[in-house]
Amino acid sequence: MSARNQLPIVVVGAGSGGVVVASRLAADPSISVLLLESRSALGGSSLRNYMVGMTGMHDDYEWERDFRCTGWNWDAARKTFAAMPDILHAVQPSEAGQVDVALVEAAVAAGIPRGEHVARDSYSNQGAGFCSLTMRNGVRHSVLETYLAPLGNQTNMSVRVNAVVDSVVMEAARAVGVRLAGGEYIEARGVVVCAGALATPVLLRRSGIDRPGIGVGLQDHPSFAMTMALRQQQQSAIRIGANVRTSSQKGNADIHVLSLNETDESGMFGALIAGVMRVYSRGEVKYDLASGTGVAMFNQLSDERDREAMRDAARFTYKLASSNSVSRIAGAVLSDTDGTPAQWLSDATDNEIDNWVLRQVGAYSHAACSCAMGNSSDDMAVVNARAEVIECQNLWLCDASILPTLPRANTHLPVVMVANRVSEMLLETLSESS
Ligand SMILES: Cc1cc2nc3c(=O)[nH]c(=O)nc-3n(C[C@H](O)[C@H](O)[C@H](O)COP(=O)(O)OP(=O)(O)OC[C@H]3O[C@@H](n4cnc5c(N)ncnc54)[C@H](O)[C@@H]3O)c2cc1C
Repeated sequence: MSARNQLPIVVVGAGSGGVVVASRLAADPSISVLLLESRSALGGSSLRNYMVGMTGMHDDYEWERDFRCTGWNWDAARKTFAAMPDILHAVQPSEAGQVDVALVEAAVAAGIPRGEHVARDSYSNQGAGFCSLTMRNGVRHSVLETYLAPLGNQTNMSVRVNAVVDSVVMEAARAVGVRLAGGEYIEARGVVVCAGALATPVLLRRSGIDRPGIGVGLQDHPSFAMTMALRQQQQSAIRIGANVRTSSQKGNADIHVLSLNETDESGMFGALIAGVMRVYSRGEVKYDLASGTGVAMFNQLSDERDREAMRDAARFTYKLASSNSVSRIAGAVLSDTDGTPAQWLSDATDNEIDNWVLRQVGAYSHAACSCAMGNSSDDMAVVNARAEVIECQNLWLCDASILPTLPRANTHLPVVMVANRVSEMLLETLSESS
């Protein structure tokens, strides 16, 4: 083995993507792995997300057809999802909160079929049911428990927290190490950047990599909330326990409504959160050369198709919010944080809804697509179908940034699926080069 091959593969960022790729590489004792995390704890967003587990719809993953990413299609995604450790806990009616129960009842009354397995059902355009959460025995099961813990004290894997990577050190387009914010240089066999959709493009730019697609194409699911003043204090330990999937007039399975059992510590407020899941609007992580930092601009609802779907989502969510099931648990439903009763939505015009949505819209915390995977001949693609940064050697990306488009799902499990596939490709590449 050459001296360079004995150096560690440095994985930057210990979130959903980074922990999976570091752990899967370290499962091969011939590969040395160093996982660097800027925060004081590992886990990234998987440690603080709402645990809603979902795979998305089958045609969300036809990336070979839609983006010329060879080998990326539903069949491959489905097999990878199926091979992943099953950590989904189906919320039981006895565990569900009052908002969860009211949401499912209201949706069924509105004609949505009751679906027991909305989380894993990648074909039905409609369904209402309790969520599947990434938890076991009542506690969160993040990528740490699923992927890192089984490695035990394996000696070929080192982990450092509070290690802020400033840049990847490149020599003639080849990644040879990383530089930490304090100046320390760490030599590497190769570098896998997994800093998340907002930080990864900034890190690449700071490293002097300048493909035009870096930062461009950023997406999130646009969402809004209708808040409920509950008649009785929330009792369930489950934060979000039910999900409804339906279709807008022009789309399929492109609207989700989730129940938030409590919005604050008083336990006296809940909410219905609606999201448009098929997203056309795209933004950018803008890089500021002088400061070496980036600003995320999502441009949500800049595409008319997203505004149309959002209108349908608003009317559908109001229908659920004004149902008997919700009235039984909530004395009032509010359309904004100023306390405006949501009744005005009953006969609102398209224009009124558009204006309201533009004021209320927020991100779903599903930032992705800022360093998209694509064909090597596509100028705007940042990584190829093997997650290699195009025109660079020994440099890979493996996080939400490389999704070419958002799936119609909360993004944790899709990122874990992608990270599993990228890990397999990396293992193959590393075994060929050793
Ligand atoms: C509040 C919240 C709620 C969510 N709820 C859900 C949900 O219920 N269900 C779901 O499926 N998805 C949910 N998501 C989304 C999902 O968790 C993310 O899409 C997914 O975890 C992203 O994984 P990632 O690897 O791309 O990034 P992350 O998991 O964010 O990991 C990136 C890591 O890189 C580290 N890092 C960044 N810069 C550097 C640097 N310079 N040096 C070293 N380390 C660095 C970060 O600290 C972080 O640990 C939620 C997200 C949030 C934030």
